[in-house]
Amino acid sequence: MKKIIQDLSPYIPEKPLNDLRDELGLDKLVRLSANENPYGTSNTVRDAVINWAKHSHSNRYPDSSANQLRQLVSKNFDLDPEQIIFGVGLDEVIVMLSRVFLSPGDAEMISTPTFSEYALHAEIEQANIQKVATKEDGRIDFSGMLQTITPETKLIWICNPNNPTGTYETVEEIDNFVSQVPGNVMVLIDEAYIDFVTCQEPISAMQLTKKYQNIVVMRTFSKAYGLANYRVGYAVFAKSIAENVQKVRLPYNVNSIAQVAAIAAFKDQEFVTKVVEKNALERQKMQNFFDDKKIHYLNSQANFIFFEYPNANKLADYLLHNGYLIRTGLKDDWLRMTVGTKEDNADIRKLIENYIG
Ligand SMILES: *Cc1c(COP(=O)(O)O)cnc(C)c1O
Repeated sequence: MKKIIQDLSPYIPEKPLNDLRDELGLDKLVRLSANENPYGTSNTVRDAVINWAKHSHSNRYPDSSANQLRQLVSKNFDLDPEQIIFGVGLDEVIVMLSRVFLSPGDAEMISTPTFSEYALHAEIEQANIQKVATKEDGRIDFSGMLQTITPETKLIWICNPNNPTGTYETVEEIDNFVSQVPGNVMVLIDEAYIDFVTCQEPISAMQLTKKYQNIVVMRTFSKAYGLANYRVGYAVFAKSIAENVQKVRLPYNVNSIAQVAAIAAFKDQEFVTKVVEKNALERQKMQNFFDDKKIHYLNSQANFIFFEYPNANKLADYLLHNGYLIRTGLKDDWLRMTVGTKEDNADIRKLIENYIG
């Protein structure tokens, strides 16, 4: 076996929720640790999937190019259909990008803390990680990143809004940053949470893929669209780059049910709009509560909040035994909590008040 694999610390996925609930002897356990959509999925998705199951053939391979979904997405964002690569969630897109752009000895730059899978896949490709800490307020230190670029740097990850800080960078800031990055360094912009941004328009860096050759913008159906279980994500490239990434994509990666679900979800923008509105309202209420209680948090434009609390794991444990699973282990004494439904958030505020005493 490769030594690099033996030495790797694995990504620990979430335990099945019902198993954990039973283990803890709880009647109800709500997962607010994975930034899933608490409002479920558009009803039109269920209908589309049932209809597919009734009328289609499971013995046939799916459409390798996901053409219907591709046309829908490219029209909506005014892109050339060939600029898009679909993946089994963004997870798979991250694997593809690492595989295409990193050779042993290359370097990948990340802003820390950020999504752990960027570094994991760089390690698998035997690349080195260049870490630049975020600023005090959780925002990306763009000038620090520019100063850290070396001839080995091949990839720079910008997660926007960033997981776990929830902080958002404007398109102008990103444009300004990319304009100073050498053309042979790819800037990868993970917009998994972009739909939740409410502080400004336009919010996406998608159109910059027409201005720069060395930029990739990534989106997923897992979060605002509520399709985490179907595993559909995509990346938008300059066309010449997309052609090459296609070469490493497994030909039938996204199955037909996932394609059908994503099409239905994408067509129901009303569902997404409602989710985003409810999330923004609940996010603000939770931040107001933290202000009230003098709990330090970072200003979030996502569907989760990153906050600091002394002996954080003890608070997380208290919430867990009272029915709410939140994310620990991302930074000492910090916790990441997905913004849940109105009822669950009110319940959590009561619990935290109780805990503080
Ligand atoms: C959730 C998440 C993803 C993974 O999304 P999938 O499409 O479900 O694989 C990618 N990037 C970030 C930052 C995430 O938080």
